[in-house]
Amino acid sequence: MTKRVLRFAPSPTGYLHVGNIRTALFNYLQAKKVGGEFILRLDDTDKERSTQQFIDQIKRDLEWLGIHWDKVEQQSLRIDRYREVLIELKNKSLVYECFETALELELKRKKQQNQGLPPVYDRSALKLEPEERNLLRDKTESHWRFLLSGETVTWEDEIAGEIKVRTSVVSDPILVKGNGQFLYTLASVIDDADFGVTNVVRGIDHLTNTAVQIEIFKNLSSNAPIFGHHSLIVDSSGENFSKRAGGLSIKSLKELGIEPRAIVSKLVSLGTGDRVDVDKNIDELAQNFELSKFSTAPVRFDKEALGVISRKILSTLDMGQISEYLGFIGVPNEIREDFWIMAKENINTKEELVDIWRLCKEGAKNPIIAPEDRQFIEVAIGLIGEYPRKSDSWQILTEELKKLTGRKGKNLFMPLRNFLTGKSDGPDMKKLFPLIQKIQNFQSS
Ligand code: GLU
Repeated sequence: MTKRVLRFAPSPTGYLHVGNIRTALFNYLQAKKVGGEFILRLDDTDKERSTQQFIDQIKRDLEWLGIHWDKVEQQSLRIDRYREVLIELKNKSLVYECFETALELELKRKKQQNQGLPPVYDRSALKLEPEERNLLRDKTESHWRFLLSGETVTWEDEIAGEIKVRTSVVSDPILVKGNGQFLYTLASVIDDADFGVTNVVRGIDHLTNTAVQIEIFKNLSSNAPIFGHHSLIVDSSGENFSKRAGGLSIKSLKELGIEPRAIVSKLVSLGTGDRVDVDKNIDELAQNFELSKFSTAPVRFDKEALGVISRKILSTLDMGQISEYLGFIGVPNEIREDFWIMAKENINTKEELVDIWRLCKEGAKNPIIAPEDRQFIEVAIGLIGEYPRKSDSWQILTEELKKLTGRKGKNLFMPLRNFLTGKSDGPDMKKLFPLIQKIQNFQSS
């Protein structure tokens, strides 16, 4: 059997978002499952919009999520190869030179639309006489289009089933822009052929591209990969996620403290009907990965759910998995375990531990105490005593207060929690109180 080769091919013109990562996972997990090769291909022929900063961020995001590539390829470094293939296509008269400006093309499209015609390029450049072409060449930049056959392209899609696209209703695609930029359509075919890519999974929005690319593969006498087109992710209002929907960029989710495993497990189950399995790591997910479980119907993605999954994952971490982070935020070794047991059920993100630790170290800042509770809190302050405390110091304190003030239940616990933490809810006071090192003054409301 031939070795499977898959790739993820982002353009480094923006941050990766959950939609991109879903595509990356479809390819990565398939490669991983069968011990195949996984290539990170950077589609960076657009010099103006591609940046090194985005390339670095893409790599950071993938690594953070546990998606590791076997090699990186970069389209901007392969322009000579693309030129070579362009010459081959020119020699076969499969590409033709066009001179229309963007504005002219736009006007043509408008006219066709007004006449109720599909906005397909009219191939007027093919009708130019050689002299006309020479004249135009002196005046303006030319771009190159691929001459589609007009036939129906058919393929067996791994997700969508049999697909037929009539290329007679598709514009001949531009392969090279007036400024000399090679466009994705051709560059991707050459790369997939040269790197021996066997399978490509990408969004259903690429169907037409696929038909066009299959024609190009044929004309270059290369085997087209097996294609699969997955559904697109929509938000709660049914809108497609675009690259510019920064709110769901991987970078922003990381900054919010979402666990990488929450993102991966959510995306792998999305659209399958399977429950989110937070217990499996990415390698285990790969073993169970089946493309046939997915469909082409749009899937809704709920950002809130990530917080819930993340919380679930965090609560299962043991000391070995969290100790380093606790050390990083300053929790001393000898109380790390007690601190984690106290805090773990109360956080959606690791970052929230920072505030809980600050509370332990510095006490609540100026908690507001109602006038009717002031005297009670003053009695409490007299009893609280110095840090370090014992594991039963909360029981001792509250028993004592009950005796002295006659208060009990909510009347006793709420003002005390408010005073000690500045909040009316949070971790179990029995576990939290022994870790509180300082008591601050309070304000009267
Ligand atoms: N750069 C293309 C994109 O991000 C790659 C598509 C493909 O997988 O072929 O849409």
